[in-house]
Amino acid sequence: MAIGGTVELGFLEEAAAWRLRSPYFPSKVGGQPAWLGEAGLPGPKELSCRHCCQPCAFLLQVYAPVSGRPECFHRSILVFCCREATCYSPGDSRCFRVFRNQLPRKNETYSYDPPLEEPPLEGPTCVDVQLRSGVPLCRICGCLGPKTCAKCHKAHYCSRDHQILDWKAGHKQYCCRQSDWFSTAVPDHKFLFPTYEIVIEPEEPEKKETQENADSSGKIETCADAVAATVSCMAASLNEEELEAVAKHETKEDKVFEDFKKLIALQPEQVLRYCVGGNPIWISSENVPQEKDIPNCPCGAKRIFEFQIMPQLLNHLKVDSLNQSIDWGTLVIYTCSEHCSCEKKYMEEFLWKQDIVADTV
Ligand SMILES: [Zn+2]
Ligand SMILES: [Zn+2]
Ligand SMILES: [Zn+2]
Ligand SMILES: [Zn+2]
Repeated sequence: MAIGGTVELGFLEEAAAWRLRSPYFPSKVGGQPAWLGEAGLPGPKELSCRHCCQPCAFLLQVYAPVSGRPECFHRSILVFCCREATCYSPGDSRCFRVFRNQLPRKNETYSYDPPLEEPPLEGPTCVDVQLRSGVPLCRICGCLGPKTCAKCHKAHYCSRDHQILDWKAGHKQYCCRQSDWFSTAVPDHKFLFPTYEIVIEPEEPEKKETQENADSSGKIETCADAVAATVSCMAASLNEEELEAVAKHETKEDKVFEDFKKLIALQPEQVLRYCVGGNPIWISSENVPQEKDIPNCPCGAKRIFEFQIMPQLLNHLKVDSLNQSIDWGTLVIYTCSEHCSCEKKYMEEFLWKQDIVADTV
């Protein structure tokens, strides 16, 4: 990952399940988290929504080592979010939790050399019920599972909510049976998001031609097409009234929104923009954080911008609903500028949610 300057973009691709597991150090969306270090995982309390207190679901993780920092030879940022649509009110980021973890090259969990890029022999599974060290994970969400089924003492859960979910989804039938239910595939509880690999590529510099068209008031066809393409791409997160209302009025808000659309129109499928120490692009002029709004890391160092999650990701999460659904304009992640050492612990980082302002008229 580049430091400052170049922006790198994340795109979604289908990938084999084994490729997205911990030993392959993936950047990915959905499924269970591919934990990096096995020590100091966030517990159920740290992974609960600060609004409704329900367990958050794993949203995505970015593998982002820091060159020149041996303790950050491996480094991952994991983002979790609430599944409850009513927790997504504008300007409220309490439904998200972000954690950073890093490991030196020589560590207790992974081989010194990178793994072979081929499926492991033991056969791929897409769900982990425990860490390599044997620490049990919740069968539903893949996070720490300190609670155990009181009958069979085999199934582990992060919370009572997930125990109930699993009981209804089939554990009721398998509990206490002398069968191999434990190792069979866990049923789909509709809690995890669909799984994709995130492929990172440098942002291509703006084409000169597009720049000229954008600058010239007479020749705006190309630019208008690009915006139209983006608008259709963002359909899941914006309704047409919102778009039209914003587009009709020449305000500061419009300018920010137009700039946002122009920039992402160059690569409409981007779901992530990565640039440590760089600047995020805002979707609105409202609810932009001031420096004082970004809390320092507990180590005392400033937190700086690391990456942002784009609204296009919503199109791939299957969260559409007729009424309210999980929603954001952009999610901006700030992490410790010192990459402070957390070999034995997952450090919580900071996320700022910015929403589309629908009532700018
Ligand atoms: Zn919630
Ligand atoms: Zn769980
Ligand atoms: Zn049981
Ligand atoms: Zn720090």
